[in-house]
Amino acid sequence: MSERFLEGNLRYVEEIFSPAADFFTELEKGQAPRALWIGCSDSRVVPNIITSAPPGELFVHRNIANIICPDDPSLAAVVSYALNVLEVRDLVLCGHYGCGGLTALDSGLNKSEAVRSWLEKAAPAKEISDRMRGEVDEESRLKALVEENVRLQLKNLLLIEEVSRGVEAKTLSCHGWVYDMATGLIKVVATIA
Ligand SMILES: [Zn+2]
Repeated sequence: MSERFLEGNLRYVEEIFSPAADFFTELEKGQAPRALWIGCSDSRVVPNIITSAPPGELFVHRNIANIICPDDPSLAAVVSYALNVLEVRDLVLCGHYGCGGLTALDSGLNKSEAVRSWLEKAAPAKEISDRMRGEVDEESRLKALVEENVRLQLKNLLLIEEVSRGVEAKTLSCHGWVYDMATGLIKVVATIA
């Protein structure tokens, strides 16, 4: 199975890396990404591909359902490094319709205790979609949950001191987006600037 990816790597070297050797040589010297991207781990939502961003443009952190847990040490380190060392001035938090994590949170059906307890951190986002039960079709209701989760996690971002300080000083803008797997388009849900 892993051979598939190693063979893919050889094709990458031949078709992408070697023809752009100058670009990659320059990139090897250091990174200066334009944005910090926080998104879902979902294999279908690949930040650089859906934004046509070449290597070097996005500093990325992903977890199930793009949840901001301010005491998550991995997230804290990524945010701190992006803001203080890389001096990134835009932070994108991107969810996506059809998010399996949020669908599992909505249904309460989880095969894994680790996943269940992680998703619980997004539970406050359920309030609105829970009230919509029976009033709209399920697809629309789950889309509302995805959008509300983006709003909730943007608010959680402001609980990280470095983020709130950056927003106050106007050195940082936070963008809440949702990617639509059905159309490939990104919807802007909220912006804090
Ligand atoms: Zn997801």
